[in-house]
Order: sequence, then C-alpha cells, then structure tokens
Amino acid sequence: MEPLIRIRGIRREYAAGDQRIAVLKDIDLDIHAGEMVAIVGQSGSGKSTLMNILGFLDRPTAGTYSFAGRAIADLPPDDLAELRREHFGFIFQRYQLLGDLDAVGNVEVPAIYKGMARGARRDRARALLTRLGLGDRLDHRPGELSGGQQQRVSVARALMNGGEVILADEPTGALDSASGAELMRLLQELHGEGHTIVIVTHDPGIAAMCDRIVEMRDGVIISDSKTGAVAQTAQRDPAKQGLAPALDRLREAFVMAVRAMTAHRMRSFLTMLGIIIGIASVVSVVALGQGTQQQVLQNISSIGSNTIDIRNGAGFGDRSANRIRALTAEDAEALSVQPYAAGVSPTVSASATIRHGATELSASVTGVGVEYFAARAFRTMSGVTFDRAAVATHAQEAVVDTDGATELFGEADPVGQVVMMGRVPVRIVGVVEASGTSFGPRSALNLFIPFTTAMARLSGQNYVDSISVRVADDYGMDTAEALITSLLTTRHGKQDFFLTNTDTIREAITSTTRTLTLLISGIAVISLLVGGVGVMNIMLVSVTERTKEIGVRIAVGARRSDIITQFLIEAVLVCLLGGILGIALALGLGEALTMAVPQMSLIYSTTSIVVAVISSSVIGVTFGFLPARAASRLDPVEALTRE
Ligand code: ADP
Ligand code: MG
Repeated sequence: MEPLIRIRGIRREYAAGDQRIAVLKDIDLDIHAGEMVAIVGQSGSGKSTLMNILGFLDRPTAGTYSFAGRAIADLPPDDLAELRREHFGFIFQRYQLLGDLDAVGNVEVPAIYKGMARGARRDRARALLTRLGLGDRLDHRPGELSGGQQQRVSVARALMNGGEVILADEPTGALDSASGAELMRLLQELHGEGHTIVIVTHDPGIAAMCDRIVEMRDGVIISDSKTGAVAQTAQRDPAKQGLAPALDRLREAFVMAVRAMTAHRMRSFLTMLGIIIGIASVVSVVALGQGTQQQVLQNISSIGSNTIDIRNGAGFGDRSANRIRALTAEDAEALSVQPYAAGVSPTVSASATIRHGATELSASVTGVGVEYFAARAFRTMSGVTFDRAAVATHAQEAVVDTDGATELFGEADPVGQVVMMGRVPVRIVGVVEASGTSFGPRSALNLFIPFTTAMARLSGQNYVDSISVRVADDYGMDTAEALITSLLTTRHGKQDFFLTNTDTIREAITSTTRTLTLLISGIAVISLLVGGVGVMNIMLVSVTERTKEIGVRIAVGARRSDIITQFLIEAVLVCLLGGILGIALALGLGEALTMAVPQMSLIYSTTSIVVAVISSSVIGVTFGFLPARAASRLDPVEALTRE
C-alpha cells in the first residue's frame, strides 16, 4: 500500500554565521494512514524540525516529500495551506490558542478557512468540545482554562476539519501527569477511529503507548520499530468552495478586526487622530469655501444683472490702466443714444476730505451720472438724486449714503446741509442706501456728486474712470457687449477698454474660491497622508504583537489572502471610523462657528462627505497593505516560536 507520507533524503540546514549546520541529515521515512507513530530522541536531535516539515510548516533544504502520492516540493504557499487545512491537525506543546477567542471560537478557526457554514461550524465545535469533556467550558477563554483543558481545546481544533493526520509536538510537555495521561488516552481513542497520529516526545512511557517508535539522534533516524497494527482511515468532509464561504471568511475577519481595535481603544483612537483631523479639515474647508462663495454671489446678484461696466485698460490688474485715459464723457453721451442702452452713467472716482462743523472725515467721492443709482440698485432714503440739469450745470450737490449721513450729521436731517468737500462747498440733496450688502471695498463715508462736478472741481481730469450701461430688456447681454465694443473701438480707433458684467465677476469669484479651496484641501491631503503613515506604523506594531496568532492561523490553514484581508479590514476600519469621526467633528465645528459668527455660512455638500469616506477607506487600504502583506508572509515556524 502506498504510504500516506513518504519522505526521502530530507535535509534541513540552518545558517549559523558563515557555516551551514544540518539539523536533519538525509532522513527517509514512510508513514502509513492509520499509524500512531512516536518520534523520540534527545532535545535538539531534530524532532520538531522533522515534525514541521511533515506538516508543511517548514520546507526542507533538500529531499523529496510526497503526501498521498502527491509531490509537494514546488507547491505554492496557498496549496500547502489547503493541504494543512484539509488533512492535518496540529497540537502544540504550548497549546497555541488565540487568547481573544473562547473555546468554541478557537475550535472553529480551521473550519472558517475551510468554508464551513457558520451554523454547522459552531455545532460541530460544540459537539467536539462536549465530546472532549468541555461541554461546560464552551464560552471560556484560554486564560480561564487549565492547561489540560486548553490542550483538549487544541485537540478539538485539530479535529475540526477532520484531522486525518494529527501532528502533536510534545503535547504532554506542559501538562501534569494526570492530564498528560488523559490526553494520551484521547489520542489513542482517535487512533482507534482511524486517525493517523504522529507524536513527538522524549517520554518513553508515552512512546510505549504508540504502535511505532522512531528514534532520532543528531538529525538522523537511528531506530524504527513497529509494534501494533494499522487501523482504518478516518473519513473527511470535502472542502466547500464558492461565494458564501468567502463572505463568511470576510465576516470573521471583520469580527477579528473589531476585536483587535476594541482591545486597544486608546491606541486605535490616537491612530485615527491624524485621519480625523485631515478629514475634518477637508470637509470644513470645502464647506466654508462653498458657503462664502454662495454668500458673495448672492451679494453680486443684488447689484443687478443687466449692467455692463466699461473700464480703461485691458482687464482687471492691467498696470497700464492708470495711464490709459480712453473713456470720456462723450463716449457716455454716444452710448446713451444707442437703442440697447436703457441708462448710461459715467463714473469718476476720487477721494476728498469732508468737513462739516468740527467733523472732518476722509470720504470716497464718486462722480456719477443720473442713471447711476438705478443701475446700481440704490434706494433713495430721503431727498432726491441728481437730475439732468444738475449734471449739465456742474451743480455743487451731493448724495450721501446712510452710514456717511450718520457719521456726519448724527440724528439730524442731512438734506439741505452744506459740507466742505476739500475747498468746494456742496449741498446734500439726498440719502441713499445700497440694497443688500454692498460688494467690494467700502469706506466709512461714500459721497456721490455729478461726474461733471467731479471732473471740473475735484480731480481736474478730462476722462472718466468707467461707464456703466444698463442694458435694455429686449437686448441680450452678449449682443449689447458686442455692440458696445464695436462702437467704442470705432470711436477710439483701438480697443483700450474692457467690459465687465456681474457674470464675469461671478466667474472670477468662483474660480478664486475654487483655487483657494484646492490649495487648502491640498494641505489637508498632506495631513491625511501623515495620518496614513501613522496607521501603517500602528498596523506594523499590531502585526508584530500578533505574530503568534498569525502563526497559528497559518498552521491551521489560513491562506495568505485570509491574513491580508484580516489586517486590511482592520486598517480600513480604523481609517473609516476616523473619517466618520472627522466628518462629525467638521459638522460640529460648523455648528459652533455659525453660532459664534452668524454671518459665517458653511455649506456641507454630500459629495465632499462621500469623497471623505471613500478617501479614508482608500488610505486604509493603501497604508494597511504593506503591514498586511508582511503578516501574510510570516514564516509559520518562526511565528509560532516567537515569544
Ligand atoms: P528537538 O525538537 O528535537 O528538540 P529541534 O528540531 O527543535 O530539536 O532543533 C534541532 C536543532 O536545530 C537544534 O540544535 C536547534 O538549535 C536547531 N535549530 C532549530 N531551529 C533553528 C533555527 N531557526 N535556526 C538555527 N538553528 C535552529
Ligand atoms: Mg522540539
């Protein structure tokens, strides 16, 4: 009969400094299904090394191994994991149970990786534990169990997927003699049921209970004696494949990740802090940017959307604009007779010191035409604004805004008062108020005089600074702009002016806030990256801390992808939770801010919140990947022996 395990010429060497030490030297061994073999020998003779090779936890330096007729030398790690999962059960000297899981949870682990349904899995784990006398300890954690009980839990775990071959390395080594004897009875019973059992021991009494004794010394087998008969082979359940088991494994990985996070709450929180701050700042900055933008745009709408302003120069910020004095009162005159112009007002900007009695204030003085107040949607609060005659006669009349009126006259009625504008006396004829919040810089005192007066008496200039044209209702803005441009270009012989309307201003503001938001978001993204590095750091610590757990999982048949998934989920959970807390923080901050400063407006867009959630998950995956991969590539033998 073909042996279940056949190894030929197995060598295992370790590097020791420059030299290589052979711990196993050309071992040949056949083990048939149903045998119960004891491997004995002095400490350091290579028993554990041989055992690890038998269970695919370690690879030999040289030699061949075939399991059930299948050569395993070149199989990839996941295939070896599958073989372990399907055929082997391990019992370790130090039990190697997962401390966070109760007895049932520990016994279940191999079946999770095999793909057994949750209900069936738990039932089987309970039945196995009950059979091994632990029916009243199902929900106890390893720390709450005696050594003998823990070892029985690990026997149940070895049997979970069938345990066709049970490999036990010094299983009684940490047990008192009574528990040890009980464990041996159990193993003999399993042997009777057809399980193939290999026990490493240095106790001759235990070896005598097996039906074959293989003795090792210094890496070679020095004797091999058969005593008993071979029993029947145990039956195994076939492995399950498909989506449901994969989802099940995902859920188990999720549960493990939550458990790991709650075990280190403070650490998890500190790790999240970077993500929280990053996400909170991105979300708030975007909200603030959008809020401010909308507020400014609302203010612009109050200016009136059918007004075109014509200015000197090639555009805003044109340095030569001050030297270009192209626009004149005659241009305004020419425009005012055009059919598309419902109203035209030149403006001339100047500043002057205004005196009234003992009060002396510096004011911004705007020379305007008759149509100005209508075009700018000013409301007349008292008195009148200028008429054609006032403009034509360079009248020394002024209109003041409400704030300026209060500054100058207090509670007294301003209309009819005479103030000194520099050396020119002007009479106040009206008070106006800008509707809505005014847009642009604002001085304490705004005074309006006819533009003709401003040119003649104040600035002495023979040009105007800008011309506002209110477009007639039946003309489109684009048409009007084209007509104005062609008219003025003809008059000037070249285009030395530019047109703006509220749409162009709106565009300018939108693009400015967009740029600012991008800039600040960029800084926030850097803080997110820093947060991600923090997550990576903690995940690496977590992997180091749980090396043993990872070793156990690999030993019972976890695939590399299972280990990666578990740690990735943990990283993503940390980041996702951080992201959600960050969003909550941003919303809270916004609430507090609008309460403290009511004019402040924040608009939280769903998009930015969704993007925040997605990007925190992406950070988790990105920065969790390296540690997760490191975990999945741990050498199981090394991981299991790490203290
Ligand atoms: P046993 O289980 O029979 O006590 P082992 O198989 O554990 O012996 O070890 C056999 C020999 O191999 C020992 O001399 C041990 O020092 C050596 N050895 C085991 N693991 C390593 C390793 N990772 N690196 C170097 N030497 C090792
Ligand atoms: Mg050993």
